Amino acid sequence: MPGFDYDLFVIGGGSGGVRAARIAAGEYGARVGLAEESRMGGTCVIRGCVPKKLMVFASAVPDALALGRDYGWDIAPAQFDWPTFRARLDAELDRLEAAYRGGLLGAGVTIHDARATLADPHTVRLATGETFTAKHILIATGGRPHLPEGLGAPVLTSNDIFLLDRLPERLLIVGGGYIACEFAQVMAGLGVGVTQFYRGEQILRGFDDDARALVAEATRGCGIDLQTGTDVAALSEDGQGICVTRTDGARAWFDAVVYATGRHPNTEGLGLEALGITLGARGQIPVDGWSQTAVPSIFAVGDVTDRMNLTPVAIREGHAFADTVFGARPYKADHQLVPSAVFTRPELGSVGLTEAEAAERGPVEIYQTAFRPMKTAFAGRPERVMMKLVVDAGSRRVLGCHIVAPEAGEMIQLAAIAVKMGATKEDFDRTCAVHPTMAEEMVTMRKVTRHHGTIAKG
Ligand code: NDP
Repeated sequence: MPGFDYDLFVIGGGSGGVRAARIAAGEYGARVGLAEESRMGGTCVIRGCVPKKLMVFASAVPDALALGRDYGWDIAPAQFDWPTFRARLDAELDRLEAAYRGGLLGAGVTIHDARATLADPHTVRLATGETFTAKHILIATGGRPHLPEGLGAPVLTSNDIFLLDRLPERLLIVGGGYIACEFAQVMAGLGVGVTQFYRGEQILRGFDDDARALVAEATRGCGIDLQTGTDVAALSEDGQGICVTRTDGARAWFDAVVYATGRHPNTEGLGLEALGITLGARGQIPVDGWSQTAVPSIFAVGDVTDRMNLTPVAIREGHAFADTVFGARPYKADHQLVPSAVFTRPELGSVGLTEAEAAERGPVEIYQTAFRPMKTAFAGRPERVMMKLVVDAGSRRVLGCHIVAPEAGEMIQLAAIAVKMGATKEDFDRTCAVHPTMAEEMVTMRKVTRHHGTIAKG
């Protein structure tokens, strides 16, 4: 396409932007430029999913050692050394960043290590002063942690946790979403004394109520002081640390406070409004099903659009954009029945409607089981796992599946295939169990636990 410097200019080198750039350049031969102001890989690779999961693995070790003892192993007390782990983590992130960079270069993408903003519908301006024109511009700048205003003392966000020089002894985590719940358990597993404040009645709003309750029980069971209906009224610093005054007036001191109070789209200063793109209430870029903005040459994918803020969704959106615009294979990214997992201990895996959502829509049957799994029951431990199927009483389709169990993230990935295919409860029942596993309970729940609504007769 003569006349433009590039066929596509991507702003942001995270999951969505990198996928779009690689497919457009590597598969379809488009001339692609990509600008990233920070490290290549974005939130998921550098300060999100990947380092978080490695910390989840590290934090699970004491539990595994304790279980080893219960199984008859003679294991000496173990010590965790944060600097050793951090050095390995840093090296791994360097390796991954290089792999992302290599993948882009291998696909023929030109990388610009600079912040980019929009100058007009076909022009980007880099912080270096250079400008480039492109037939299409894709904004994939992701999101960033959002802090309430006017906090009276320095607090940390999830970004900072991976960069700590040493672990605090007393940590307060504020929030009840994915990030707060995951880091509360990670830090507790690493030996940190953790308190978690959540302003609402129950953590993990939006997930199935029974699953939320069991994760809350497990959170408390691993020694975290989870306080629901509690928020921070004031923060200050003194010789004892950070003084936190609760909404009920009680005070406590911590060495560090992490705010995990949501993330907002990274759109500040990009120059979108001047081009006629009116941002949403949270600063997100409104797009249609094709990820196209109000300006036809400008598209946006991933967290910056605040549709469904998950890495695999951003990747799907970026891929669909590239196939549609450069591969003449038009399709929209599918946001239906997207599974996800919260990496607490045990994990929460979920796909489809919660019991409460389904009950509002029509007659449903709930099949639910909770039990002590063999592995930890053998050790006399009280931990329980839960599995729930939400079934449409008319069509018999499984509308939702919710699992709280070790490795629930792995289980829900496979259950999600069946749910996405439209499997009925009877399809689950026809599937033979794998014995002895926890997941076999998914195909052996015969009795209805609860009904909501009734099917109209006649
Ligand atoms: P969430 O939006 O999930 O949770 C934010 C939490 O902070 C909620 O509990 C919210 O309470 C609370 N909160 C918001 N504002 C305030 C405030 N002013 N004072 C006190 N509490 C407040 O955000 P996260 O930061 O946990 O995660 C961001 C996104 O990242 C998620 O939406 C998710 O898509 C993604 N993510 C996914 C992961 C995964 O797939 N495993 C892991 C980590 C992140 P309330 O419920 O009352 O609104």
